[in-house]
Amino acid sequence: MRVLVVEDEQSIADDLAEALTGVGYVVERAADGEEAWFRGSTEDYDAIVLDLSLPKLDGLSVLQRLREEGNQTPILVLTARSAWLQRVEGIDAGADDYLTKPFHMEELVARLGALLRRAGGHSTSLLAVGDLRIDTRRLRALRSGRAIDLTPLEFRLLRYLAHNKGRVVSQFEIAEHVYQQDREPDSNAIEALVARLRRKIGGEMIATRRGHGYVMDA
Ligand code: CA
Repeated sequence: MRVLVVEDEQSIADDLAEALTGVGYVVERAADGEEAWFRGSTEDYDAIVLDLSLPKLDGLSVLQRLREEGNQTPILVLTARSAWLQRVEGIDAGADDYLTKPFHMEELVARLGALLRRAGGHSTSLLAVGDLRIDTRRLRALRSGRAIDLTPLEFRLLRYLAHNKGRVVSQFEIAEHVYQQDREPDSNAIEALVARLRRKIGGEMIATRRGHGYVMDA
């Protein structure tokens, strides 16, 4: 899952990036509103954490522009505690959730996880595909009740495929949503990753659509 963190306060941005990377998200950052709007409208993110008080272009305008363009990415906004009007405007403009500063990182991680689940049509932190269970909170997978030993990269791929169950996911998408930004996997690396995951969870769980990508289904 690929998340854009928009925050101009360096220390908060660092903490957010560290916490979200720690729970297995691929994190990208923007430090002002113009960059946020540019990235949000040209790149494909699974969720955006958006501070409303930003230089160059304020967060509310970023949110309004993205929604006007038809962008439906789940967005969690951060606001100052006293700024109740900002929160109301944020929700009116299409924010999916908000947190007031200062916030507890655990709460932000939990709320962002809930946003992603709702966007994927899942109601709990446990994703199910056939007899496979993916616990997105504890970052582990079980098949028929038995834990499967996965590397962080394998887990991220499994979660992304399960989140998009029934939909064909391209190699390009996997490169963007599963790999950390500084790694640029080639086609062979992705095929090898899919092969390793198949060996661990059962080859029939992931089908190849030649020339298109991979699809997970029971
Ligand atoms: Ca700010």
